[in-house]
Amino acid sequence: RIKLASRVTNIRVSPSTAAAQKVRDLKAEGREILNLTVGEPDFDTPQTIKDAAIAAIDAGDTKYTPVNGTEELRKAVQHDFKTRLNIDCELNEICVGGGAKQVLFVALMATVEEGDEVIVPAPYWVSYPDMVIANGGTPVILTCGEDVGFKLTPQALEAAITPKTKWVILNSPSNPTGAAYTADELRALGDVLVKYPHVLVMCDEIYGRIWYADFKPSSILGVCPELKGQALVSNGISKSYAMTGWRIGYAVGPLDLINAINKLQSQMSSCPSSVSQAAAAYALTADQSGVEEAVKVYRARRDRAHELINAIPELSCTLPDGAFYLFPSCAGAIGKTTPDGKLIENDLDFGLYLLESAGVASVHGGAYGLEPYFRISTATSMEEIEAACGKIAEACAALK
Ligand code: PLP
Repeated sequence: RIKLASRVTNIRVSPSTAAAQKVRDLKAEGREILNLTVGEPDFDTPQTIKDAAIAAIDAGDTKYTPVNGTEELRKAVQHDFKTRLNIDCELNEICVGGGAKQVLFVALMATVEEGDEVIVPAPYWVSYPDMVIANGGTPVILTCGEDVGFKLTPQALEAAITPKTKWVILNSPSNPTGAAYTADELRALGDVLVKYPHVLVMCDEIYGRIWYADFKPSSILGVCPELKGQALVSNGISKSYAMTGWRIGYAVGPLDLINAINKLQSQMSSCPSSVSQAAAAYALTADQSGVEEAVKVYRARRDRAHELINAIPELSCTLPDGAFYLFPSCAGAIGKTTPDGKLIENDLDFGLYLLESAGVASVHGGAYGLEPYFRISTATSMEEIEAACGKIAEACAALK
């Protein structure tokens, strides 16, 4: 056996990847599974974007690009940050990587020393704690329950900051809850952060365009420009343009941090795919009606799933502001017994019961650091959502 490095043995395979694999295994056994674990759009990449990529190939855009991404893509990102979120930045304050996930990982790699603390509000995207651990840091998990809208409060943030705090990670709209921060909430968090210049803030806004709330999307850098030396705002094309396989993400941040990310990237991958960068630049600058259409579809599914879940006595669910997930509480099912006589002790038991008895796959709340909840994705057809909610209702009704 190979003796692997502790940076590998200390981390987990992403639980949502593991859940998706379990669904594939059960399907291979011939079971019919309604899959609500999906973390990517169920739409195909729009044809116009594919055409832009093909045109880029034909034009010879098939070579290494600058390490920090093509100027064309960085200009598109700069324009998007300015017009949508009122973020002012220079082109050299933007970096481009192989997905937002990679950009965030490399940002941590560039800054976190052994023992540094990274504040991760829970429920969190499953990757944050493991990315921190892989880079030698210590995740400091702060529970942000339903009572505070699943959001970090300025008081909780300030109480958690120590001399060792390197980062706080914000994700708005959030995976798994769909909760998004208002401009006032961001301003209040920013007011705390400016008092602690040693603390950086990582704002993951990958779902920023998949937005349903009445209030307008905003970014901490847009509402607190004085955080320019402390904030890294990341985004990408995966979720908004149904381009998860193209692997492009980007971020704006302090010049020395962006330069450090680029330096690491120069030794890791040289640059992200030239063709994908051309497609991403096109996606960001072309007509946005495709995104608007997709959001309409997601919104209808969110509304229906929210209604159906809340009609089940054991479950309750807040209304997401954005993204394509719901995060219902299954508190009403805990302590009950299945028809086979098995006690539902926690949300993992509940998720397994749904999978085994109802053929519905979800991801349990514990994977996101908050119990007893479960995440369901609405990046699947209305028929599948309605059928799955029907099965969940039957399974809950059968509990004693
Ligand atoms: N951030 C969050 C909160 C996500 O849910 C995901 C994907 O699931 C990502 C980042 C990764 O995005 P990308 O495909 O750009 O790496």
